Amino acid sequence: MQYHIGVIAGDGIGPEIVREARKVLDRISEVFGCDFVYEEILMGGCSIDVHGVPLTEEAIAQAKGCDAVLMGSIGGDAKTSPWYKLEPSKRPEAGLLGIRKALNLFANLRPAYLYPELKAACPLREDIIGDGFDMAIMRELTGGLYFGEKKTEEVDGKLVATDVLTYSEEEIRRIAIKAFESAAKRKKKVTSVDKANVLDSSRLWRKIVEEVAASYPEVTLEHMLVDNCAMQIVKDPKQFDVILTENMFGDILSDEASMVTGSIGMLSSASFNDTKFGLYEPSGGSAPDIAGKGIANPIATILSAAMMLRYSFDLDKEADAVEEAVRRVLKDGYRTIDIMPQPTESREGIRQVGTAEMGDLICERITG
Ligand code: NAD
Repeated sequence: MQYHIGVIAGDGIGPEIVREARKVLDRISEVFGCDFVYEEILMGGCSIDVHGVPLTEEAIAQAKGCDAVLMGSIGGDAKTSPWYKLEPSKRPEAGLLGIRKALNLFANLRPAYLYPELKAACPLREDIIGDGFDMAIMRELTGGLYFGEKKTEEVDGKLVATDVLTYSEEEIRRIAIKAFESAAKRKKKVTSVDKANVLDSSRLWRKIVEEVAASYPEVTLEHMLVDNCAMQIVKDPKQFDVILTENMFGDILSDEASMVTGSIGMLSSASFNDTKFGLYEPSGGSAPDIAGKGIANPIATILSAAMMLRYSFDLDKEADAVEEAVRRVLKDGYRTIDIMPQPTESREGIRQVGTAEMGDLICERITG
């Protein structure tokens, strides 16, 4: 079967890290006989340079015609780049918001996995970390407080600001289905996070999530209040598999969960609509401070490509092979600069490598 992959290399380190992810996908085709066809899509600052806008209608049509999109990162240094002299709707980041909207990407999945080899980067205590943890946050991305009606008005001579939080049954159902489908491919547990003790939207959330759960008997469902979840992520992160939550809670909890893994260069992410289509990208940005130096960590992008294999193409065996190769490369002591041990820690058996070498080392470890 042929898979059409849109590739948005983007700006800064984007082209460097995407090049390595493509190398890994090419290695997967070689070993497993998959047929990947790539289509370059211009978005972000590089699109502004060519077309004067961060996202063209043509780029949207190209993305819609693909089975999935793999992205690097977009944007530049806000202080020095000419892109930031443009009005906000013409800046690189507007391209990202535009494509999410055009493709109706309402679900965002961000895994937070702690590799045993990188334990030292985790700010939690050794007894809490144990053998490491592996959770993923499924966040609703296009509804809730961030998209509700907003107003600031004067009432009796004083300013009053209002943000409306709305969720419809359908919005909850479609994200809950995504969470259960994801958990079914992982450790088969969903923790649905809400504030049902005070919010009506949360009470509806709970009711609909329970209805969806009935179709996934192999997946265990538990409910947790958001304040408790924020504590549990740092107290006992091992208890989680997929955390399902609404937009604002997910915004906060996904940053908290990713911070406990230690390095931004290791964190993959995916955004979905209600088809198998997904936009896969590292959680970090375009890192203008290190762009062009050949030192960026490509692992988050490579792991995002593995998520694409698993979630958009159902190529689980191939995704496992990529993830296993990443584990092995770390076990064998190879590190990009961002995940090197601190000067106070032992560096015995550890070797620093650049972006391209890390990609090559991962490819070498992909076997059938
Ligand atoms: P950033 O994530 O680009 O960088 C923060 C720090 O992390 C920097 O020190 C950087 O060197 C480091 N870092 C990030 N990715 C790394 C990697 N793969 N390997 C090694 N180190 C890495 O965040 P920022 O500096 O706030 O933003 C820079 C630009 O990226 C801005 O224009 C911002 O708008 C954009 N951005 C884009 C996306 C996206 O494309 N989805 C996401 C976030 C930020």
